Amino acid sequence: MSDTFKGEEIRIDYRTGVKIIFSNVRNNKPTDFSELSDKWESDVSKCPFEYGKESLNKTIKLVGGDEHSWKLKVIENKFPLLAPQFDFLPKDKFLKEEPAFGYCEVIFETPLHNVRFSQLEKEDYLRWLDAIIERENALYSRERIKYVYTFKNEGPRSGASLSHAHTQMMAFDEISRTIKEEQAKIKEFFDKEKECLYEYAVKQEKERILAENETFIAFAPFGSRISAESVIMPKRHISYVGLLSKEEKSDFIGILSKIIKINDSIFGKLSYNLLFHELKSDDMFHFHVEIYPRVITFASIEFAGFNTNQIFPESYVKTFLEKSSLE
Ligand SMILES: [Zn+2]
Ligand SMILES: [Zn+2]
Repeated sequence: MSDTFKGEEIRIDYRTGVKIIFSNVRNNKPTDFSELSDKWESDVSKCPFEYGKESLNKTIKLVGGDEHSWKLKVIENKFPLLAPQFDFLPKDKFLKEEPAFGYCEVIFETPLHNVRFSQLEKEDYLRWLDAIIERENALYSRERIKYVYTFKNEGPRSGASLSHAHTQMMAFDEISRTIKEEQAKIKEFFDKEKECLYEYAVKQEKERILAENETFIAFAPFGSRISAESVIMPKRHISYVGLLSKEEKSDFIGILSKIIKINDSIFGKLSYNLLFHELKSDDMFHFHVEIYPRVITFASIEFAGFNTNQIFPESYVKTFLEKSSLE
């Protein structure tokens, strides 16, 4: 631990080169969910994000009303993994550490406590999407920021600590490892085939399509790493969410809400992670959203770097389409 340690730092594991964000602020963070419980609801009177409790957090923006009537709210994360810190001493040659530089924001997409994301109305989702686009642009305009990661942890098994529906945004001074890996795959494929990997993939995923409309498509990928995993992507080649047209936004919400609602009807109240994969700085990247239901927990085999999956994407698609025909 360096002398200037402030609470958030990145260490680079010399065995693998993997970066780990350390933060002790999380230890003091209140949690509505105990480890791996299935309890979704929490006491509304203890929730610090309700109407009139704005002074408990640093509010960035209220949308659709004032502190007693907002429909969406953006705040600074009170327990951030990243912080805008600059005065950090140079690192050791072998035990490498660096400041966990960045910004963390939280969007509350509904004022209603104990409401699941899958229960929102279309106008709520559209407001949510517009807030994401606006905040991404604002974060990208800050000095040193190279990558903004938008994601949702939904439910007690997703890693979320809050039960009040929310979306997180983290702005980093470098692109994440997963996105860099996807970026490299996309470039490698393009160099060889002169075509976008994701647009090519859609043509190969015909048997595994979950939903489709004019401008968007969703499928359960052939090589699903997680049970009942899905990918939602625009048919048009765009690298980040800020480039969506009005029609595409509406189509995106149509498909996204369908997937999470039908997943709930297949699995019951489902914990999941919803991840935006996008890159503002690389036109070659193809924007998509990945949804990872937390049906099964990782075991030793996954720690060895092998993924296992108990549900074939084809059987997930079959069940999904059966349920969707009943809706
Ligand atoms: Zn609440
Ligand atoms: Zn593309």
